[in-house]
Amino acid sequence: MTAQIIDGKAIAREVRAEWKLRADRLNAYGAPAGLAVIMVGDNPASRVYVANKLRASQEMGIRSERYLYPADVAESIVIERIQALNADASIHGILVQLPLPPQISVRKVVETISPDKDVDGFHLYNVGALVHGGNLFPPCTPYGVMCLLDRSGIPIVGQNVTVVGASNIVGKPLGLMFLQREATVAICHVKTRDLAQFTIAADILVVAAGQPDLITAPMVRTAAVVIDVGINRLPDGRFRGDVEFDTVRQKASHITPVPGGVGPMTVTMLLCNTIASAERFLQAKAA
Ligand code: NAD
Repeated sequence: MTAQIIDGKAIAREVRAEWKLRADRLNAYGAPAGLAVIMVGDNPASRVYVANKLRASQEMGIRSERYLYPADVAESIVIERIQALNADASIHGILVQLPLPPQISVRKVVETISPDKDVDGFHLYNVGALVHGGNLFPPCTPYGVMCLLDRSGIPIVGQNVTVVGASNIVGKPLGLMFLQREATVAICHVKTRDLAQFTIAADILVVAAGQPDLITAPMVRTAAVVIDVGINRLPDGRFRGDVEFDTVRQKASHITPVPGGVGPMTVTMLLCNTIASAERFLQAKAA
């Protein structure tokens, strides 16, 4: 068996084209979606991520604002900026690019963002709402994984799902989203004993551990769907996922490549969250 490649770039293009129509409608109403991006310091990777998000926003017809602060900025300055953006009716999404320098509490910053504008889905309100279902802003990478599966016609209800990685931004929310969709979920992490016993049982295996080639073919069930969230930079500069692509591809039914799988979906879902937020604000105003 050779797996069908789930083409994240193509699916991201399709999703963006659909949501662009909604962004255009907001623009036609004179109520463009607005995204504010805050960056502190000069982390080169953050600079690239922020530039990508702003460019993608512009292409979608989302109005964006960028706030750059030096690495030694006081926490209170960033908090005051977020409070001003919370009160700004032209802004529907606020994103603070992580990591932040040590004098700034990530927790405090994230909790200051209004849950109604928390397009990254990191506020405790949105995280907690994942348990109940129907949260306002699904966190972007897990949301992107669900979207890839749905758009590839892969059923989720009743499937055995194993998520490798239990971070707050990927593994844990993803596990809850699968549970909400009535899958049976195992979430594994670095202390999991005998990882293979969980991975081999999975109809859908999602890997977000940040360990190149962690998952090899003997760990994968025949005809499993394999989603590789990992992005690992090798010493020669190439990118590699957490799954040994060439061998696992011979065994899986579907697989995502790295790059070009989950990666393009993350920014796409941020744009969707921002447009959905602007639509909610407009509806609330009209009501
Ligand atoms: P993290 O370091 O916060 O968490 C990693 C998780 O994997 C932890 O729960 C850890 O216990 C687990 N883990 C590590 N080694 C393991 C092992 N040997 N066996 C089992 N579990 C193990 O990482 P993160 O922020 O969740 O990111 C994970 C990966 O996904 C990274 O490669 C990151 O670059 C990538 N990522 C990609 C996107 C995207 O848009 N494609 C977005 C976010 C993260």
